[in-house]
Amino acid sequence: MLFILRVDVLAIESIGFEVLYNFKRALLVSDFGPKITIKIVEGLREDILAGKLKSGSEIKDALKRSVLELLTEKGDKTELQLGFRKPAVIMIVGVNGGGKTTSLVKISGKADLLFALLGKLAHKLKKEGVKVLMAAGDTFRAAATDQLVIWAERSGSEIVVAEGEKAKASSVLSQAVKRGKEQGFDVVLCDTSGRLHTNYSLMEELIACKKAVGKVVAGAPNEVLLVLDGTTGLNMLPQAREFNEVVGITGLILTKLDGSARGGCVVSVVHELGIPVKFVGVGEGLEDLQPFVAEAFIDAIFS
Ligand code: GDP
Repeated sequence: MLFILRVDVLAIESIGFEVLYNFKRALLVSDFGPKITIKIVEGLREDILAGKLKSGSEIKDALKRSVLELLTEKGDKTELQLGFRKPAVIMIVGVNGGGKTTSLVKISGKADLLFALLGKLAHKLKKEGVKVLMAAGDTFRAAATDQLVIWAERSGSEIVVAEGEKAKASSVLSQAVKRGKEQGFDVVLCDTSGRLHTNYSLMEELIACKKAVGKVVAGAPNEVLLVLDGTTGLNMLPQAREFNEVVGITGLILTKLDGSARGGCVVSVVHELGIPVKFVGVGEGLEDLQPFVAEAFIDAIFS
């Protein structure tokens, strides 16, 4: 009798470990990285050995719960925290080509979303929605300003651009926030130049931008959103560390999840730095920016 039981346990364990091996591969393929993969898998292995997980579907559910815990352990602030003062200021930062300008345009096009997220400020807003001003703070790449101007024209939004070729990004942003304050805008969305996180002079410019907007409106910027390209895999983590150290990131936008990228490394970023994901980019169209929902993100990875 004892012998038979032992065989059963061994059978369950070996099935469990095979399932676990497959999930481990799935985690690595989805760019979770070795460190977090080992942490998750070892936890599951212990539960299998303790007889707490008895089937493939129980292991899968436990795996999803582990990832959800890592994504939400430091709180679940996926909404924009825009405070009470007008204008709320959102700065968008990140490396070149990640999708900053596109994300900014998408956010500006989501007046309903911003309106809903403004919380207590919302009751003061006019019925027609949120008044959004864009600031073309990417003074490094001329095409970024042209791109924003075209979008602003299309959507009827207003925009502040650099005057003269040598205008500093910090002065464009401070000018925009001043105008936002004087003209009663609800939100000022600030684009910034793309930069490698290892380029210190450009990182210093970001500090100047942050200080400049804070001088105009106390507490600004309310949000500093770091755009992370979902296809960059494990490079996300050093990028996020550096940007966070320099300017203090309040939220992440994970872009390009419409391709083969799963963006699993963002779990390490959230776990290590305690910064929540606020939006995901799932395409190039205006509607392709969605609020981040941890459960949906996890389901997409393990579907
Ligand atoms: P920036 O340099 O960070 O401002 O990057 P851009 O906003 O100019 O975007 C770089 C490229 O990525 C553009 O071709 C965008 O259309 C594209 N892009 C941005 N977000 C997404 C996304 O979620 N999915 C896909 N497929 N492409 C995106």
